[in-house]
Amino acid sequence: MRGSNAATGLLVALAIAACDRGPSVPSSTAPPALGARDAGMSPAPAAKRQPFVVAIVVDQLSAWVAQSRWPELPNGGGFARLRREGTWVKTMRYPYAVTDTAPGHASLHTGKLPAESGIFGNEVPAPNGQRVSILRDEAAKAIAWDGLRSVPGSSPARLRVDTVADRLRVASPKALVVSVSVKDRGAILPAGRHPTHVLWFDSSLDSFVTSTAFANAFPSWAQGIGDTKSIVLARSKPWELTDAAWVEAHAAGPDNQPGEGDLEGLGVTFPHVAKTAAAFRALPAGDEAIVKLGLAAIAAEYDPSRPTLLLLSMSASDVIGHVFGPDSWEAWDHLRKLDATLATLLEALDARIGAPVTVLLSADHGNISMPEISPERAGVKCSGDPFERPCTTGSRLGPNALRDELIAATRTVLGKGHWVAGLADPYVFLTPEARALPADRRALLDKTIRAALAKHAGIADVLDTRTLATRCPEVLVHARGVPDRARLGEDVLTLVCRSWSADAGDYYVLSRLGSFFDGELVIGKGTSHGTPYPYDRTVSMLVRAPGLIEGGAVLEDPFDFSVFAALEAAFVGLDARAPRDILEAHRAPKVE
Ligand SMILES: [Zn+2]
Repeated sequence: MRGSNAATGLLVALAIAACDRGPSVPSSTAPPALGARDAGMSPAPAAKRQPFVVAIVVDQLSAWVAQSRWPELPNGGGFARLRREGTWVKTMRYPYAVTDTAPGHASLHTGKLPAESGIFGNEVPAPNGQRVSILRDEAAKAIAWDGLRSVPGSSPARLRVDTVADRLRVASPKALVVSVSVKDRGAILPAGRHPTHVLWFDSSLDSFVTSTAFANAFPSWAQGIGDTKSIVLARSKPWELTDAAWVEAHAAGPDNQPGEGDLEGLGVTFPHVAKTAAAFRALPAGDEAIVKLGLAAIAAEYDPSRPTLLLLSMSASDVIGHVFGPDSWEAWDHLRKLDATLATLLEALDARIGAPVTVLLSADHGNISMPEISPERAGVKCSGDPFERPCTTGSRLGPNALRDELIAATRTVLGKGHWVAGLADPYVFLTPEARALPADRRALLDKTIRAALAKHAGIADVLDTRTLATRCPEVLVHARGVPDRARLGEDVLTLVCRSWSADAGDYYVLSRLGSFFDGELVIGKGTSHGTPYPYDRTVSMLVRAPGLIEGGAVLEDPFDFSVFAALEAAFVGLDARAPRDILEAHRAPKVE
């Protein structure tokens, strides 16, 4: 019952958000969809209605989780509704190695590989060796609810290709493009360079923010939802289980299992109380804030004569995976709450637009169970697992500890100097001094780095990116194209070449099957992703487009990730091909 109370609370908030938006259209001209009155949103007139598309990314929702858990969710939830009313592509693959949030979001919304988009990873080393967002831009400043702040903002400066939203704004300059996420990369990379509004949560400011790269003010409709006071209020409510018996039956383990982390006092058992802005990111309330912000933007600015693209990236699932792992009570309860939040979103949007809106939903990358979880418990088939999850457990690689080891080892061998700039997984970055070393000293540096990395059982191989620069052009000429690259069986070099660009690091570090670089939200705890293995590269996709895409269909063949951007483009009017033909062009007949 708590879940339905939460959903009701969200609807009430939407009703309040929509209350000041003028008189409602009489129901005789456009009958409200289910729940329209509850949502308090009036249907807009149907005449001359331009496309309305909502594209949703659920961060770290792997195909193995989607395939096994979506069928367990209630019929009234958002996932069941999208499955009934849309088509479920069960297997969508990223044909590249660096399966992280920034490359994933850029790839989904551009249709391009990281090697083309320039988004080669999540982070880069700052001058002090700490990792910072790949989108951090010293030339931009953050704009929070209370105005311009003197902290660096984020921008799409590194993005080399257009997003679908960018193309839409060129084709239709008055198009409404709104993008919201808890992460800068989850909001900016779907939006591109010229969104109408883009907002993400900055935990250092405890507020949703935009930046001077996009705007000169915080949008007024985000006040009362994305400001510090509202966030503090949202996180003051304990995170409690929606249905304890359902979670206990499905999670098949205790609430407090080995490997779970305590994120800034959030604790490892229910109920969870977030004491800090960073802990807020792990709460289902974070997803609710994203949806509330998206709906407030639509309530304030939707106009049926403008094409509309609403881009929402739900980040809580990723933070929960990094802290508690995907087999935890927290992961199961979060999915149940996300399901209810999505149902509320669909109901409210359909009511506002006066017809079922077009929906795309997928994930930026997959994941694997924590090393502490037995393969039986995680549902791994020891031979023939379709996601190639191993039967033996892996280990966590600590990027900061590894960086310090490499700095120390290179100083011991090469003498005092600054040789290793940092480690932003999966890349080790050298300093300009190290890159300029004479050949014999560079060979010594190379040997030292390889020897230090080889001591770690979780590392399978190290590729020198000078080799990638030489070999990748040839490798990519002969690599599989769309749609065949969606099938398994390609070598790691091909997958790395599709990820790498010249400004990425100097060494690509390959994790062993089952091992991963620790996300370090809580050091030594939780799970992560970022590897070239099929469990990290495989996600699912749901597409609802009544009249254009079949309802209730399930497609088993693997699809290339670029289908997402192609459909997004078609739905907003940028591609005249029929969506069914676009699906077909990205489908790789299953031969694996
Ligand atoms: Zn992550």
